[in-house]
Order: sequence, then structure tokens, then C-alpha cells
Amino acid sequence: MSKKKCPECNSENVIPIHYGYIDDPDAVERIKKGEFATGGCCIDEDSPKWQCRDCNKEFGKVGNI
Ligand SMILES: [Zn+2]
Repeated sequence: MSKKKCPECNSENVIPIHYGYIDDPDAVERIKKGEFATGGCCIDEDSPKWQCRDCNKEFGKVGNI
């Protein structure tokens, strides 16, 4: 897996955005630790795939991964 870089600030502090309702306690714990972000329950092809933890820029497309 290649390192993602933020197109805005070039940071590698980038986490994946997960969609859908999350009730798995382990997943909730990982969200709290900042290992990934949640994008809500609605997802379409234009929804961003990644979020930069430095500048909060969301980028990429879930549809083409
Ligand atoms: Zn950034």
C-alpha cells in the first residue's frame, strides 16, 4: 500500500474515510484514536476517500479505488 499524500499541504498524515453506520466497538475505538474518519451514512461515487489530519482537506474518490 502506497503512502497517500494530501494534495493541499503535502502531508502524509492522511487517514481513510469510512462510510456507513459503525457500531463495532473496535472500529469506534480506532476512530477515537484517529486511525480513520467517518463520512456519514451517505456515500456516492463523488464521496471523498481520504482526509488530511493536518488541514482537514478531503480528497480522492471512493468510486475509482
Ligand atoms: Zn493537508
